[in-house]
Amino acid sequence: MSETAAASVAPLRTDFSLLIDGELSASAASLEVINPATGRVFARCPAATRTDLDRAVQAARRASGHWSGLAFEERAAAITRMSAVLRANQSALAERLTREQGKPLGQSRDEIARAARQSEGMAAIPIRAETLVDDAERRIELRYRPLGVVGIITPWNAPINLAAGPLTAALYTGNTVVLKPSPYTPLSTLKLGEWLREVFPPGVLNVLAGGDELGEWMTAHPGIDKISFTGSVATGKKVMASAAGTLKRLTLELGGNDAAIVLDDVDPQAIAPRLFFAACVNSGQVCMAIKRIYAHERIYEALCAALANEARKAKVGDGLDPHTQFGPIQNRMQYERVLGILADARRGGARILAGGELPEGSGYFIPPTIVTDLEESSRLVREEQFGPVVPVLRFSSEDDAVRRANDTRFGLAGSVWSRDPERAAALAARLEVGTAWVNQHRATSATVPFGGAKESGLGRQYSVLGLKANMEPQVVSVLKQPM
Ligand code: NAD
Repeated sequence: MSETAAASVAPLRTDFSLLIDGELSASAASLEVINPATGRVFARCPAATRTDLDRAVQAARRASGHWSGLAFEERAAAITRMSAVLRANQSALAERLTREQGKPLGQSRDEIARAARQSEGMAAIPIRAETLVDDAERRIELRYRPLGVVGIITPWNAPINLAAGPLTAALYTGNTVVLKPSPYTPLSTLKLGEWLREVFPPGVLNVLAGGDELGEWMTAHPGIDKISFTGSVATGKKVMASAAGTLKRLTLELGGNDAAIVLDDVDPQAIAPRLFFAACVNSGQVCMAIKRIYAHERIYEALCAALANEARKAKVGDGLDPHTQFGPIQNRMQYERVLGILADARRGGARILAGGELPEGSGYFIPPTIVTDLEESSRLVREEQFGPVVPVLRFSSEDDAVRRANDTRFGLAGSVWSRDPERAAALAARLEVGTAWVNQHRATSATVPFGGAKESGLGRQYSVLGLKANMEPQVVSVLKQPM
């Protein structure tokens, strides 16, 4: 049987439901989900209507009274049980994640393990009232109250991890949640919601799949108090504009164009694998991937050659194949966008050192590609490529490297690489970003704030800052004078 014929008779997976008020729910509308490794529809799931959203928001509001009244320790215990569910179902969830997202199975498993670990880490952070004044006359306390209902909207590049962070922050601090995954990758999130019925009381967590319009309805909904949004800068601006109507609180985790500055004293052979991985993992579809490499002229040629060598060794294929290191681009629109950015670099006279040729067959595959000798005005330098196409640019003065790294409206993260970490740290502190790393990239943890400067976002995730962003500060001021 031909591959096409086999695919046409393979049954569509349809065992997915919305989660509303603790019940699994069908819907009048549906979404088709494509496996990016084949380019074919393999599953269908319900798509929430406006009525479904209203039901979910009402359920979340009803559940809020009881949930917000629990002690932090009780909600932390529920988060621990959520992490246990993630771990117990790691393999089954990873398989669904790889089929819809494309990443290699091992990386899907890592994403789920990370979500479990980070959630536990966040739920161990204490939130305490602070006493600002306590003297003979007055006691003034700063307390923190839950906001109410938090709407969480996630993108398609790491659906489980990017849901778990805001979900934990919202739930642990006493809010209830309506969670909406990307229409490109709804399945793993819906399945997780189904399994989490045993952890959270009805209405505390509601999971709705749906198209972009569902996101718009959420941002304008008067019953939602805060939006935690992870996605592109362009959509983030729409979310902010729409949320203004009800003055919702916002956390925006948006795109990046992270620069890695490589100083003249490094060993190019030794660091190339680490730079390459930080740029190309998940086929470059990571907000905090390295998206531009600035290399000192003394090591430029050697570093380019070493990076090209890494790219040539890369095993690209279906994420379900255990040998695969790099899966496909997640969707056709993004695939065509990355190819357009590569074509623009070629037209501008850039040199492709490795990669750049598309494999035969179906699926949205672009092999890791190293691009050199390109103009600073090239789209590959100016825009967030969000794909495995890495520009390597030459610099001669460190001041010039910092200036070029900062010459962007993005400000998510960046890194400086050197044999001398203190020399690198001084330069890293000059990067206009939310996180500046030295001799590493992509290192985050539950207790360290993460988020973007400039147009890469608003507010911070993780850490006490990320938790308090789900709470309203309240001053309680007591005059100690009997009336
Ligand atoms: P996207 O902005 O297209 O979509 C993100 C989500 O927003 C989806 O669920 C989508 O349905 C929804 N949406 C679309 N239009 C909406 C609207 N008008 N109102 C409300 N919701 C709407 O982003 P994407 O293409 O799915 O994801 C890739 C982007 O996400 C990249 O730019 C990447 O850098 C960014 N990202 C950022 C972080 C971070 O932590 N800063 C993490 C991961 C991804």
